Amino acid sequence: MWSYEAPLRDMQFVLEHWLQAPDAWRGNPAFEALDLPLALQVLEEAARFSQGVLAPLNSSGDRQGCRWQAGQVSTPDGFAEAYRAYVDGGWPALACTEALGGQGLPQLLDAAVQEMLYAANHAWAMYTGIAHGAYLCLKTHAAPWLQARYLPEIISGQALPTMCLTEPQAGSDVGLLRCRAEPQADGSYRLSGSKLFISGGEHDLTANILHLVLARLPDAPPGSRGISLFLVPKRLDDGQPNGVRCDGIEHKMGIKGSATCSLVFDAAQGWLIGDPHRGLAAMFVMMNSARLHVGLQGLGHVDAAWQNARQYAAERLQMRAPSRPEAVTAAAADPIRYHPAMRRVLLELRTTSEGMRAIGYWAAHLLDQAEHQQDPQAAQLASLLTPIIKAFFTEQGFRQASNALQVFGGYGYVAEFGIEQTLRDSRIAMIYEGSNEIQANDLLLRKVLGDEGRAFGVLLAELRAEAGQGSQTVECAGFAHALDRVCDALASVVNAIRERSGEDCEYPYRAAPDFLQLCGVALLAFAWARAARVSGALPEEHPLRAAKLQSAGFFFDYLPSRLAQHLGAIEGARAALAFV
Ligand SMILES: Cc1cc2nc3c(=O)[nH]c(=O)nc-3n(C[C@H](O)[C@H](O)[C@H](O)COP(=O)(O)OP(=O)(O)OC[C@H]3O[C@@H](n4cnc5c(N)ncnc54)[C@H](O)[C@@H]3O)c2cc1C
Repeated sequence: MWSYEAPLRDMQFVLEHWLQAPDAWRGNPAFEALDLPLALQVLEEAARFSQGVLAPLNSSGDRQGCRWQAGQVSTPDGFAEAYRAYVDGGWPALACTEALGGQGLPQLLDAAVQEMLYAANHAWAMYTGIAHGAYLCLKTHAAPWLQARYLPEIISGQALPTMCLTEPQAGSDVGLLRCRAEPQADGSYRLSGSKLFISGGEHDLTANILHLVLARLPDAPPGSRGISLFLVPKRLDDGQPNGVRCDGIEHKMGIKGSATCSLVFDAAQGWLIGDPHRGLAAMFVMMNSARLHVGLQGLGHVDAAWQNARQYAAERLQMRAPSRPEAVTAAAADPIRYHPAMRRVLLELRTTSEGMRAIGYWAAHLLDQAEHQQDPQAAQLASLLTPIIKAFFTEQGFRQASNALQVFGGYGYVAEFGIEQTLRDSRIAMIYEGSNEIQANDLLLRKVLGDEGRAFGVLLAELRAEAGQGSQTVECAGFAHALDRVCDALASVVNAIRERSGEDCEYPYRAAPDFLQLCGVALLAFAWARAARVSGALPEEHPLRAAKLQSAGFFFDYLPSRLAQHLGAIEGARAALAFV
């Protein structure tokens, strides 16, 4: 049976040792009341909720799915009760400012909580996952009266927001959208048009739903410059329904408990968020937060896959393993975790999950530094990391779920153990919130080449600083040296791409997907070099000390082959591609 146990010990390792977050909190007036014991208490509560309430609904929600009838959507049994428990626990307010009724905790803790929610029940967490981005978007761009009216509902969890970009003809290219907004004499707008694939567009968790909708004003220029953002509530202040209806929900491969809705806006009343025609800039605040969340979905899937594969591999007996001669055991068969092929898969699952956790939490920690300590370099780094986390983590979510399924053999392919659900659920994260191809272009074209390598230089300096520190300890010098070589490879590949782009403008687009994956692998190398160094400083008896050093050893043994794969593909991309 599929199960989930929150990895609290590793979360503490990342917070306390890898990031040394308590030191940063002490030096930050926004978090002066926060210390490690309090942070761990929050995570323990979130673990109880994820394990005890959400995980038991994961497979039943998948089997039952959502139901649509006459415009109403029913979520799977137990989803609405779980949402009430979530609201009663104060979770929607976790990382919102205290002045607005929030708890004022760092985004770092929110990231750890989100990882647990997504790992325990991705479909359920789709309803809540967009709320923080919507909160940030309104707080940054909405008029004060609109904030005063709707932020408290989001922070308390009384209403859930949606993000309405996609239309039948406008997917990756939102510049193609047609939804229209007509200004009204009272300062509001009337929106008309269709939106497709809207997560949580209709449901039975909250009485009101706040749609954040991209649409065009009558004088809008064509393309993405002519898009504005509006807030359109499902219910108006007098309790009457607004002109929004749900025409149906999708039948899909995974996250079946999440309602993916077709919405029709029929002269629905809404209010502008931010400036006219500047909707994409406002929406990007929400999308950047959402992209980090989607990366955390990938992390949740890798971790759930790792836990379940580890458990199964310890119990399933097949054949004698070469490392277990008769002198060691007289049993007729060994647990499959002793077979080298399975050991390699398990170590890959473990190192990917723990490495991604360090990097994902680092990005959230940088966002806290950018917001509360006005640290422009932290903001620059977080922005650079966002597409890598979105695309690399979600790719790993799917790939490692597939690896974990292999550990189960035929039992993985059938529904009984639930790992096939992890594989199905994980797949969407590579597509939505800006597909992984769009992330790759954003990273290489806009954030590396477009910025003349400035932010990328900051990232390389971070990695080299880690290599410098690691080189001073005997145990970690080899890892540090390997990390330095990774930096050399990244620097030279960026130079080569820049040079070649002058002669062949399509080249960076061809190289972008592998460049992003290369950056993801480099970040894992950074994560493991630091994990080895800081765990080496732990007392001998610390339960993670040996495990981290052993995992780092495995990671660095296989690193050259992973780098070579992506470097080879970037080189291969020099050749033009035929049109097929
Ligand atoms: C379950 C689910 C939930 C969703 N939730 C939401 C939601 O809440 N709100 C919302 O607005 N949307 C939502 N979406 C829509 C989702 O964001 C889009 O499906 C996604 O942006 C891709 O758009 P598309 O499907 O039209 O594919 P297309 O844009 O047609 O792309 C098809 C393929 O072409 C590739 N491609 C397109 N352009 C380029 C390019 N320039 N360079 C390289 N490759 C390119 C894409 O990467 C993709 O592989 C959801 C979708 C699903 C399935």
